[in-house]
Amino acid sequence: MEQNAQSDQSSSETLSFKSELRQVLHLITHSLYSHKEVFFRELLSNASDAIDKARFNSLDNEALAGDDRDWKIRVTADKTAGTLTISDNGIGMTRSEIVENLGTIAKSGTRAFIDQLKTVEAAQRPELIGQFGVGFYSAFMVADRVRAVSRALGASEAVAWESDGQGEFTIQGAEREGRGTDVILYLKETEKDFLDTWRIRNLVKQFSDFIEHPIVMAVETKNGESAKTEDETLNSRMALWLRSKQDITQNEYESFYHQISSDFDSPAKVLHIHAEGSISFKALLFLPKRKSWDLQLGETKGGPRLYINRVLIQDPCEALLPQWLRFVKGVVDCPDLPLNVSRETLQQNPLVDKIQKNLTKQVMKALEELKTDDRAAFEALFRELGQFIKEGIARDYERREAIADLLLFEHVNGEPGHLIALGEYLDAIKEPQNEIYHLCGEDRAALAANPCLEAFRHLNWDVLLLTDPMDPFVMPSLTEFKGKALKAADRHAPEMPEARRQLEEATQAYRPLLDCLKSKLTTLRDVRLSTRMKESAACLVAAEDAMDPRVEQLMARIGQGHGASPRVLELNPEHPTVKALFNRYQASPDDPIIEQYGHFLADQALIAEGSRLPNPAAFLARVNEMAAKLI
Ligand code: ADP
Repeated sequence: MEQNAQSDQSSSETLSFKSELRQVLHLITHSLYSHKEVFFRELLSNASDAIDKARFNSLDNEALAGDDRDWKIRVTADKTAGTLTISDNGIGMTRSEIVENLGTIAKSGTRAFIDQLKTVEAAQRPELIGQFGVGFYSAFMVADRVRAVSRALGASEAVAWESDGQGEFTIQGAEREGRGTDVILYLKETEKDFLDTWRIRNLVKQFSDFIEHPIVMAVETKNGESAKTEDETLNSRMALWLRSKQDITQNEYESFYHQISSDFDSPAKVLHIHAEGSISFKALLFLPKRKSWDLQLGETKGGPRLYINRVLIQDPCEALLPQWLRFVKGVVDCPDLPLNVSRETLQQNPLVDKIQKNLTKQVMKALEELKTDDRAAFEALFRELGQFIKEGIARDYERREAIADLLLFEHVNGEPGHLIALGEYLDAIKEPQNEIYHLCGEDRAALAANPCLEAFRHLNWDVLLLTDPMDPFVMPSLTEFKGKALKAADRHAPEMPEARRQLEEATQAYRPLLDCLKSKLTTLRDVRLSTRMKESAACLVAAEDAMDPRVEQLMARIGQGHGASPRVLELNPEHPTVKALFNRYQASPDDPIIEQYGHFLADQALIAEGSRLPNPAAFLARVNEMAAKLI
């Protein structure tokens, strides 16, 4: 429709929203924003923007800016009138601007302003919030009428825009003292709690705490009988991440970290990133020393907050880092993203993808540096947060090897509690060992006593001891590290060619006994000889194709899987008991004592690894019967 933008400031007229704006309004009030309270963030951003513009203009035009350089955003809640007002002393709008800016959507004032800015010095460019040009209308999510009274920089009169957000808006001349804009929301009956002081305070803290200009509100304080009203600044205004690193003290970093993380301790490491190039963003990330309470409670979401020019968009923003890095706290501020991005569109935004790659690389580098430069701090972090890093092994295929480099394990050749990294393990191994061996179990003491380790000890081959409940789930996905295979010590004996030849010969001789035992001990998958033991007579191992017994137990507990897979009984042909059994079998293959001894060996293998016997009474009866014969 024709709009007479040049009409006299005081005349009143009713105009229609452009048709595309009517659609957008419908979209905004019904579906664009999932959280209504973002209207507040949008209006505060507009106010901050307007101040940036006024301040910028006043740089080379003293007269225009006038005396009001006390840049400020004021929030006024009037419970009697049911209105929430956001006022600023920013650039304001003329009649034609208000029609253009609040009546159309195709042309965003901010966009035009940005275009202008391209021609001026970078240092003078104000930071601008809002690039999409629809934020203002989010007010209609909570208000059934909105009035904007504005007096433009340099103008002597004000103009009022008013609408119920349906089809039309009116423009009238109005009074306003000084430059700036008041946006007055006539709140819907159901949204009156936006007038509560605590609510307003919280919303500012939550969304706009780091806006540069003070956001003030008159707050009444009671002191005995007398009450007085004073301005309270609601935002802390510390956009630390935008400041240059040299100007920030460790103390400032720490108090910022305390504020955003609710952790009272200092962080293990601070990463202050100013990225330039194909994408520019600023990030201030913290590696905590310990798991935050929400992660302790099993929360699976986490990540830094996402800001666009100091305006909070999402907290936490999961798209900024891979899930396994959800313990990392901090903020990311990317002015190139559109202010109206939603959770769904964030995931698909190619810029976010680039930020994620960049941040992940830097966080991993920081972890690696901590590991090399301050081992004690890294070990402390790993003991707390290692479970997340391990999750990365299973989830982050691309970075698996780099993540594996960050893992730490206890090991047979180290004192209890001593941790070793995979790289260090490889540095220490000598020919002919060519693999990385590990053993999963409940605790170090039980693992160290496991007969599967005897041959490794004998050869002085180190074995990683995996006692984290996560390990049996995660480690199978790591089959290789720096070209060396990772093998479970209870499935693979040390690879020694000489031992293998001897074993083959012995197995040939023992074949009939092994087959006999297998036919009697029906719960077992197989009975075979092995070279993995030195002192013990027997041990139980998992079949090559079976799941780890601990994983099976856990699945059984949640009613999944097929229960425990039958295991393999391994016998040590050098052990006197096994030798005696073999001799007895050769002398009289049908002797019932053969079966009894078989059960006895299988039971002692269970005891040796720290497992519970399925039938302790039967075991004792057998032992006593054998003892009686001996005596
Ligand atoms: P955006 O801010 O993303 O451009 P909005 O719908 O929030 O979109 O606002 C549209 C335009 O209205 C802004 O670009 C700006 O030019 C103008 N505007 C909104 N609020 C104010 C304000 N408080 N002071 C001055 N201009 C404003």
